[in-house]
Amino acid sequence: MADQTANENRTDFEVAIVGGGPAGLSAALTLGRARRNVVLFDAGSPRNAPSPAAHNVFTRDGASPLELNRIGREQLSPYSSVQVRELNVADVVRRKDDTFELRSDDDGRVTAQQLIFATGLVDELPQIPGLRELWGTGVFHCPYCHGWEVRDQPFVLIAQSPRASHLVHVLRGWSENITLCASEGFEIGDEERQSLTQLGVRIRPAVEAVVGGAEGRVADVVLVDGERLGPAAVFTTAPVRQRSSIPQQLGCTVHGEGMFAGLIKVDERGFSGVPGIWVVGDASQGFPQVIAAAYEGTLAGAMINNELLMAGQLPSGVRAPH
Ligand SMILES: Cc1cc2nc3c(=O)[nH]c(=O)nc-3n(C[C@H](O)[C@H](O)[C@H](O)COP(=O)(O)OP(=O)(O)OC[C@H]3O[C@@H](n4cnc5c(N)ncnc54)[C@H](O)[C@@H]3O)c2cc1C
Repeated sequence: MADQTANENRTDFEVAIVGGGPAGLSAALTLGRARRNVVLFDAGSPRNAPSPAAHNVFTRDGASPLELNRIGREQLSPYSSVQVRELNVADVVRRKDDTFELRSDDDGRVTAQQLIFATGLVDELPQIPGLRELWGTGVFHCPYCHGWEVRDQPFVLIAQSPRASHLVHVLRGWSENITLCASEGFEIGDEERQSLTQLGVRIRPAVEAVVGGAEGRVADVVLVDGERLGPAAVFTTAPVRQRSSIPQQLGCTVHGEGMFAGLIKVDERGFSGVPGIWVVGDASQGFPQVIAAAYEGTLAGAMINNELLMAGQLPSGVRAPH
């Protein structure tokens, strides 16, 4: 009982969650239902905001991404131990007693025992005129999210990283008409060129501009040699970077190369290896999907609650029997 009281008084919250997309909101739901005292901060710019519809989402296929998050926040309201603050977290420091102090943009400060980062990623889109404006409506990153809607149309893959060698094969499930345009950051060897050509993939030089058409679709793709490919669904393999630098400032490490480049290293539960710090959703996982991010948040929430219970810490509102 004495220990429990000490924990209650040591910090304002048992868990602070930074990021209120599918991963952070799911973690908050799990922890709220487990009667944990939680604060969730969200700056309100989820990665898929430019897209009008989130696909491949169990029971919500095609829903607006912002609406999904709004419902997620609304469904936290019955859980009085969860507070949602629509604020950016500017910095976090580890205190001497190994708890954390978070400072938000309004200069407010809160303390917490455990931290979950669900801060997402930024796509480093290629600097091609017209492309950014069509991101999420005519230019895509993932066929599982958008492939069905553009099936059997001509596809153009802007190959920007080694990941393109894999994606070009995956795209063949949605279209037989694929042109791969190699840009800076993507090298293609003779053998790979030959095998892709045998599969019917056309290989062309880099894209110079993308021209928008009706409803945010791509009306034309102009190559550096002047060739015009006409209307197409455009896919990119743009590199990603962390939206927040705070996890790394606190000691989390990032994968350097390969499929996970730019993502924070975690174990299968979302634990970063740095005491008290968990990283979930796109920021740490290799399969960037709404439903996968939600799963990771749920799992980390349950694992944190489990650890606290095993350490003898009942939720702050629950009194141990005398
Ligand atoms: C164009 C596009 C379309 C996509 N379409 C689909 C689709 O159809 N289906 C699908 O399943 N997936 C889709 N995705 C992938 C999907 O967006 C991600 O998998 C999902 O958003 C990951 O959720 P998350 O909670 O990890 O991160 P996010 O949804 O990116 O949420 C992170 C949140 O953290 C906040 N944040 C960051 N730093 C701070 C801070 N310091 N303080 C406070 N808040 C902070 C951000 O503002 C943001 O609100 C798409 C991605 C893109 C780029």
